[in-house]
Order: sequence, then structure tokens, then C-alpha cells
Amino acid sequence: MARYRGSVCKLCRREGVKLMLKGERCYTNKCAIERRNYPPGQHGAVRQRRRISDYGLRLRAKQQTRRMYGLMERQFRRLFREAEREPGNTGENFLRLLERRLDNVVYRLGLAKSRSHARQLVRHGHIMVRGRKTNIPSYLVRPGETVSVRPESRRRTYFKDLAEELDAGTVPEWLSLNAGEMSATVVREPSPEECEQVLQPQLVVEFYSR
Ligand code: SF4
Repeated sequence: MARYRGSVCKLCRREGVKLMLKGERCYTNKCAIERRNYPPGQHGAVRQRRRISDYGLRLRAKQQTRRMYGLMERQFRRLFREAEREPGNTGENFLRLLERRLDNVVYRLGLAKSRSHARQLVRHGHIMVRGRKTNIPSYLVRPGETVSVRPESRRRTYFKDLAEELDAGTVPEWLSLNAGEMSATVVREPSPEECEQVLQPQLVVEFYSR
């Protein structure tokens, strides 16, 4: 599956919000948003002062959501169509589906520094779902399923070091982490409050309903 290979800090600057795409660097004053909070490019600082249209507002909300979860347009739109088919509020359904992606769950559990790092861990076969190696980042976890680090992978330096840092207290309540075992159970589906709060799903719905 294709993925974005350019500068991720430029994406944050384009959206004007911290999308937290670079792990630890995002928490330091090296963060590009802290230093240059205007769109990238020669005329970025000028563009920032322009009035944004209603269409632009919805486009930015959609791009922000898509970029935060690291999806390409086609994959993102497919998930949105799935959210539309489910009963209830489409915006909330959509955020819930994004949160249930395996790469996001690995990130939420603190097993990876960023969602792109989590995606790499999944692709490289370090993660198991229900005790079976699963290397599909877009896999949607369900309540009752367990997500864990493969026993062979736990012997690697990265996971050995990580074992001391894992903290069940920082994990959202819809996931139950056993830090010692490096495994977690999906207790239930995430509630809207447990999804990314900077995002505006209603604007994404309006964007695709044009
Ligand atoms: Fe975004 Fe992180 Fe880069 Fe800051 S350091 S601009 S939050 S990716």
C-alpha cells in the first residue's frame, strides 16, 4: 500500500496543528509548529492571512484527520464509506473505525512512538492479534480480541527497553494493557471522547457529502 514519504512536519505546518507524527520530537521545542507556525513554502506566511472558504474549511478538516492517521486518500475514503453504512452518527462511526485500526491500537498502547512507527512494527510482523501474527496495519480490532508483541520480538533490544517504559495508566480505557506481558485486550469500542479531540468529524462528513 502506498504511503506518504515527504516531510511530515510540513503536513503539520500546512494544517496548523500538531499532528504528532514524529514521536518524541513532537514534545520538544524542535517541533516545526513551535518554530514556524505557518504553511510551508515561499509564500506560506502570506497565505496564512487569507480568508478560508467554507469548502477550504472542510477540506482542511478532512486532510487533518487523514494525515493524523497516516492514510492515503483512497483508503481513507473507503473507511468513510464503511462508516456511512453503519447505523448512527457517521462522523463518530468514522473516528471509531480509525481508532480501531491495528496500527493505531499499537500506538495507543505505547508500543510505538508514532502511528507510522506502529505501522512499521505491524508490517514487520512484530504484532499478534488473538495469538496469531498479523501484519496488516488496517486490520480493525474487535472487543474481546488480544493484541500482543510476538514472543520472538520481545527479545529484541527495542522491546526490552520499552518494557520498562510501558504504563497502563496512559492507555485509553477501551484497551486493557498488561505491561509485563506486552499484551492488551480490547475491552469495548472507543467512545467519541476517547478519539482524537482536535479533529472535527462533522466537517469531514460535510466534505464527502458535497
Ligand atoms: Fe508535527 Fe511532530 Fe513535526 Fe511538530 S515535530 S511539526 S508535531 S510531526
